Amino acid sequence: MTKKYEPFKQVVQTIDETAEILGLEAKQYEILKHPERQLIVSIPVKMDNGELKVFTGYRIQHSTIRGPGKGGIRYHQDVNLEEVKALAAWMTFKCAVVNIPYGGAKGGITVNPEELSEVELERLTRRYTASILPLIGPEKDIPAPDINTNSTIMSWMMDTYSSFVGYPVPGVVTGKPIDIGGSLGRSAATGRGVMFMTREIMHRQGKPLIGAKIVVQGFGNVGGTAALLLAQEGAKVISVSDVSCALYNERGLDIEEIYNFVNEGERRKLLNDYDKKGVTKITNDEMFGLEADIIVPAAMENQITEEIAKNIKAKLIVEGANGPVTREADAILEKKGVVIVPDILSNAGGVVVSYFEWVQNIQSIMWDLEEINRAQEKIMIRAFNSVWEASCDKKVSLRKGAYIVALNRLIKATSIRGQLI
Ligand code: NAD
Repeated sequence: MTKKYEPFKQVVQTIDETAEILGLEAKQYEILKHPERQLIVSIPVKMDNGELKVFTGYRIQHSTIRGPGKGGIRYHQDVNLEEVKALAAWMTFKCAVVNIPYGGAKGGITVNPEELSEVELERLTRRYTASILPLIGPEKDIPAPDINTNSTIMSWMMDTYSSFVGYPVPGVVTGKPIDIGGSLGRSAATGRGVMFMTREIMHRQGKPLIGAKIVVQGFGNVGGTAALLLAQEGAKVISVSDVSCALYNERGLDIEEIYNFVNEGERRKLLNDYDKKGVTKITNDEMFGLEADIIVPAAMENQITEEIAKNIKAKLIVEGANGPVTREADAILEKKGVVIVPDILSNAGGVVVSYFEWVQNIQSIMWDLEEINRAQEKIMIRAFNSVWEASCDKKVSLRKGAYIVALNRLIKATSIRGQLI
């Protein structure tokens, strides 16, 4: 029987483990084991056929110790309270690792957006925004895109919020279209960050990225961009997957062609509809067992389980998704000598450029793309170096190193604010 997946419990275990390494007393970090605020909303939506459907939505602020809440909004049929709590907590640690002045939050709606028309999706988004309105705002909590949400959905959220308060508030969400205050570089930022972190770890390990065989799970915003940029850096991407299948060619896939195929048109196409000589279709599970140098899981959490971990041959995993490797799998991989660049570091590029977007909105200024890419790279390499040093210093994995860096910053902020009296 497969174990029940309880991501928030796993986050709490990781916090406890890290606190033990640091020799902390429970009272110094207990608060981080409890989300600060949790809002569950029921969202009535009039469907195109005249029926009324009620959806469940969430917005959770895990911590605002280091600044306003920050985190994406997910639309998925599996969204639930436990998952959103974990995702919100990961945001707290992520913002602390890259040292940007935010806390952690996350939201979501339990819905399969594929089953909704564009108009139904807009009604759902607007009503959800109205329901979580008391919690969000540029000084309080700033949502962004996540799985199955995009810049269009962010513009509906921004418009709904602005209508309620009576003036335009671009800084209430990030990941907006450029024309209404979005930032250059935001849509590619998470994938670009995954590429930066892959380049950095390979450099530290003294291995060339050029020619390295890479497998990428998930071909959406994060996985698609990461695959494209890694291929442009000279890596050989041998397999990419989405929810429909995995494409495989041991000599390397034409990633630019696949990227254009998937992204042309209104809605994203599935990889299963891509046909090319020399490219075979395999399952996601088979893909993880390929002879590769690097795996980039960039689809969802809970993908690399114990069973999958046992078959992994790659020696490096760079996490594009949040929580793609379970704690049990993590332990197996560590024993096998597989190095993992953890999610809270490797996929932080999105929140870093979201931070730039928010700063530009608040100051009503616009930066150019070179400036943004350079600033993102600087912040992420600095964070990588702190994580690397912490992991060498304490002789622990990079994941534990990342949690050490983040937890140290969080307890410092907590004690300076005097919240633990
Ligand atoms: P997305 O919706 O753009 O893409 C998700 C991709 O994963 C799609 O190709 C989908 O088909 C695939 N997928 C979904 N379920 C799958 C499964 N069971 N097996 C194989 N493939 C599957 O989402 P995204 O924005 O790219 O987010 C992907 C991950 O990255 C999520 O864990 C998200 O939380 C995380 N993340 C996203 C951002 C961001 O800026 N978008 C930032 C940080 C972390």
